Amino acid sequence: MSSAASPEALHVVCPHCHTTNRVRLAQWNQAPDCGQCKQALFGGHSLALDDATLFDRHISRNQIPVLVDFWAPWCGPCRMMAPAFEQAAQQLEPRFRLAKVNTEAVPALGARFQIRSIPTLALFVGGREVARQPGALGATDIVRWVQSQRF
Ligand SMILES: [Zn+2]
Repeated sequence: MSSAASPEALHVVCPHCHTTNRVRLAQWNQAPDCGQCKQALFGGHSLALDDATLFDRHISRNQIPVLVDFWAPWCGPCRMMAPAFEQAAQQLEPRFRLAKVNTEAVPALGARFQIRSIPTLALFVGGREVARQPGALGATDIVRWVQSQRF
């Protein structure tokens, strides 16, 4: 975890209005809401980051790790993995944020991270990619892979 993180709280970017919230650890398991838009910070769903500016905001400002699924609508294995990724979101929140990047909608992000095959999972911590896994996985394997990473 980033050394900038205060020990009593972590910054979480709202998946709805993209405001950075400071969530105290005491609130962590009490379904915290966004201070700006009042919606749940963790709804058990992945977040579409089909915009480079929004992507950078979530990757750099979240003090929880962000798991990104690089995918495309024309990719059969990607579509097959989509429900598993949502199941994984339910299991991994609020310790992790799960996000999806449509590489057809934002090819610049796929190019920047040199995504050579889809789907590809990539785990970002403190703005940096720490692990990558190409290929479709089931929900159990997604959760296991994320939890096996050391960072
Ligand atoms: Zn919000």
